[in-house]
Amino acid sequence: MNLRRTLLVAGLAVTVSGAAFAQAWPTRPITLVVPFAAGGPTDVVARTLGASMSKTLGQTVVIENKLGAGGTVAASYVSKATPDGYTFFIHHNGMATSTALYRKLAYNPLTDFEFVSQAVDVPMTLLARKNFPANNFQEFAAYVKANKDKINLANAGLGAVSQLCGMLLENALGVKMTAVPFQGTAPAMNALLGGQVDILCDQTTQTIPQIKAGSVKFYGVTTKNRIKALPDAPTLHEQGLKDFEVVVWHGIYAPKGTPKPVIDRMNAAVRSALKDPDVMKRMADLGAEIAPDSKLSPEGLQTWLKSEIDKWGPIIRSTGTFAD
Ligand code: ASP
Repeated sequence: MNLRRTLLVAGLAVTVSGAAFAQAWPTRPITLVVPFAAGGPTDVVARTLGASMSKTLGQTVVIENKLGAGGTVAASYVSKATPDGYTFFIHHNGMATSTALYRKLAYNPLTDFEFVSQAVDVPMTLLARKNFPANNFQEFAAYVKANKDKINLANAGLGAVSQLCGMLLENALGVKMTAVPFQGTAPAMNALLGGQVDILCDQTTQTIPQIKAGSVKFYGVTTKNRIKALPDAPTLHEQGLKDFEVVVWHGIYAPKGTPKPVIDRMNAAVRSALKDPDVMKRMADLGAEIAPDSKLSPEGLQTWLKSEIDKWGPIIRSTGTFAD
């Protein structure tokens, strides 16, 4: 058999085996890596989607919380994981902002991953501990400016959206506060509820229950427009922080080299989960919006991530915030 024919047959064999692999996939549980602590907003999105995808895929989607450095430890781990179709990663704006926050990352978000899909967009809320001496945003801003050296701002590390929101808030108010980093905003929220920290900007996927229970001070949402889940809550934009906007988007990734047929089937499972009535209700109750169809493709996520890196890079560099 001449070389050309041999290569052709070999190529065909690989294609068939690839298609056969994807057809059989998944044959065992899938891991979805979450870069922040269990119980936090990213974890809530992951477990909600994972439970629905487990039904669609016929295999359990196992959530693995891999903590540290604002999500970059998990991103680095997944970028080096075996691309066998059984390791996936969910992350938010931090996939973009970390490229400007860290002088050296152990991975390249644009070249070391396969792109599966976006999922949901989540507003943020500005909170303070229950007995914080400010009952509206104007009082909050005045108190922060007058006491900036005595108060602290909890976050989930450099690369977390709580840190991004806090940094933008400090910029807008012209202050610098002490940052208290945690391995996720689940522990940060516990510290806020316990009065150990003063301020936290966090996602509605964690904060809506606390706001409704009245267990924190709440000053507004970080979206341009008011949100259906908290219709009476003013935006920070309408309260004087003109154009202040942080919306937390979520992307799902796999290690570079994960077979495309598997990526396509995982994309279909994500899309199906986002149409699951239970998922839609839970996300709506928690203030999260299902991403538009244009963002629910591998190409849509890749294009969006690139645009976010281009958007946030100059903003972050202008604040001089870096991790070494
Ligand atoms: N999303 C993170 C978490 O789930 C918190 C953050 O990024 O601020 O803990």
